[in-house]
Amino acid sequence: MTTPPFPTPTAAEIAVVSDQLGRTARGVVGIAARCVCGNPTVVATAPRLDDGSPFPTFYYLTHPAATAAMSTLEAEQVMPELAALLEDEDVASAYLAAHRAYLADRAQFGDVPEIDGVSAGGMPTRVKCLHALAGHALAAGTGVNPIGDAALARAAWSPERCACAHPGAALSAVDAG
Ligand SMILES: [Zn+2]
Repeated sequence: MTTPPFPTPTAAEIAVVSDQLGRTARGVVGIAARCVCGNPTVVATAPRLDDGSPFPTFYYLTHPAATAAMSTLEAEQVMPELAALLEDEDVASAYLAAHRAYLADRAQFGDVPEIDGVSAGGMPTRVKCLHALAGHALAAGTGVNPIGDAALARAAWSPERCACAHPGAALSAVDAG
């Protein structure tokens, strides 16, 4: 788990992320979470991409097995169940704090008026995208984003069990870029 500041991503790390996404990774400012093998699972992305477009999802879940696991939970209608957790006052206030922490982390990479106050995944009051919430939970560590934590607890995927196409490729000394 990693929140800013981040070490500059290496060419090998960016190459793994591009492979995970099936397209060239854009605007990556850091590797925010990793598989047990060292490969990225979450990247931090600049709030404004090079082409000028605003990008609210600062913590972006890139690992194919992780994104598939979140899609499965969404298909199984887990989102309404997790949203119901917000009826608890303590969970709701933790979720609001997670929203604020998300914005504070992103603000370190510039202010983007178009997405001012907009975090990701439905925060601070709704549950709209488990990929974004799990991405935040993986980056921030357990105990910051209660809904992201709950989604990860329900998922078949875990960063503790490597399911990478090329385990450890991001740590390769060879410049894969
Ligand atoms: Zn791995």
